[in-house]
Amino acid sequence: MDVVTLVVIASILLQLGAVIVALRQMLELPNLRWAWGTITAAFGLMALRRILTLGAHLEGSAGAAVSLEVEILALLISALLLAGVAQLGPFLTQMAQSEAQLRESQRAMSALMKNLPGMAYRCLNDPHWTMEFVSEGCLSLTGYRPEDLIGNRVISYTEIIVPEYRQQVHESVQRAIAAEEPFQLIYRIRTAQGEEKWVWEKGSAVRDAQGRVIALEGFITDITERCQAEEILRKTHEELEKLVAERTAELQRSNRDLMQFAYSVSHDLQEPLRMMSAYLQALRGMLKDRLQETERSLLDLSLEATQRLQRMVNDLLAYSRAGTRGAHFEHVDANRVVQEALQNLQAAIEQAGAQITLEPLPKVTADATLLLELFQNLISNAVKFHSPDRPPKVRIWCEDKGQEWLFAVQDNGIGIEPENVERIFLIFERLHPEEEYPGTGIGLAICKRIAERHGGRIWCQSTPGEGSTFYFSLPKRPPEAPPPERPL
Ligand code: ADP
Repeated sequence: MDVVTLVVIASILLQLGAVIVALRQMLELPNLRWAWGTITAAFGLMALRRILTLGAHLEGSAGAAVSLEVEILALLISALLLAGVAQLGPFLTQMAQSEAQLRESQRAMSALMKNLPGMAYRCLNDPHWTMEFVSEGCLSLTGYRPEDLIGNRVISYTEIIVPEYRQQVHESVQRAIAAEEPFQLIYRIRTAQGEEKWVWEKGSAVRDAQGRVIALEGFITDITERCQAEEILRKTHEELEKLVAERTAELQRSNRDLMQFAYSVSHDLQEPLRMMSAYLQALRGMLKDRLQETERSLLDLSLEATQRLQRMVNDLLAYSRAGTRGAHFEHVDANRVVQEALQNLQAAIEQAGAQITLEPLPKVTADATLLLELFQNLISNAVKFHSPDRPPKVRIWCEDKGQEWLFAVQDNGIGIEPENVERIFLIFERLHPEEEYPGTGIGLAICKRIAERHGGRIWCQSTPGEGSTFYFSLPKRPPEAPPPERPL
């Protein structure tokens, strides 16, 4: 077999290969079937022609003379065609896929733009904000069609902005561009129908490769309803605050009036009560031997009732004083205050056989007299409400809670039912009859007032039958002392 024949056979094989590859592409790329069909047919014809040429050459027929150079050239062309066809397929597939993706993202984008509650834009950074692109939301936002705004055909966007906001909007955008930051603005626009709306805009500059600003892109949405709601909320809030302030002032006033009333009543009652008590005692002394048993016991009961009334009036005076007396905050050593309270309560402590444990207490900023009253009431209760089965044990301590001191007075007494631990701080609230545990039911109400006047709180934790702990907090920085409501 001569060289020419070999070259022709090789080129036929290459052309057949190209036919097969083109055929495969035709099956794999259905959308390009026509193009691939044509290529396949062309290659098929070329291969057929080469076969015929080869046949003629082998038969040695006249006119079938082939030159080696031409056949080598044909071989090279066939090889190039095969390589080209093999490359073209994947390339075309990729192109078709990219095109489909592009179409899909364009479709998604336009659906998004349509459904967005606002208007997307791209404009020039010129004084008019000349629009290059405006989404469909433009119509419902501004009342103008996108084509009215694009290229400022009917109106420029700057003209839609309410005049008093134009300068401010322009300056804010230029400032953000200079700082290479996105901008966010809230301003008012006037629609084609003359309606004013609040809008919120967010955008940023688009720059070219050299960093020059070539456009602005962003989004503008209607926030009128939100602004109106906020406005209503703000107004309601303001009205509410005013109302609360008025009511608080009213309450404070009536509280003050009540306190002053309680003060003057208890103050004025003191004298007649003292006299009643003195007269009753004198009467009992004078009629000592002449009184029947029932008459004497009636007189004793009257005297007791008067004395009890005197105690109540005194406590009421102390209560109103705790609320009205001008507090004088100073640096006070709580140890000394408690020592003084214990001294005042010495008789009761000894009588009950109470054991008192006093842990080191801090120096606090407080009104010494009020603090003494507070401790005295708590310790006196801790000793008074002791269990009949055991002598009272009282422990007093304090914890540093950062912004405030937390004081505690603990006892092992009768305890308090959980449902009563709050109401005992109300005035005249008592849980026991006078005969069982004497008292007027004012002590804890006084304690509450004193703690609150110092900006603190008071509360109780208790287990019935085991004992109670009364806690009160004192801020390290007490509130400004209000002026006395009535000079004492
Ligand atoms: P008073 O001691 O004059 O009754 P208070 O206001 O001091 O009035 O106390 C109110 C009531 O709270 C008391 O009557 C008592 O029932 C209850 N209470 C107060 N302190 C204690 C305590 N340490 N243990 C048990 N009960 C207490």
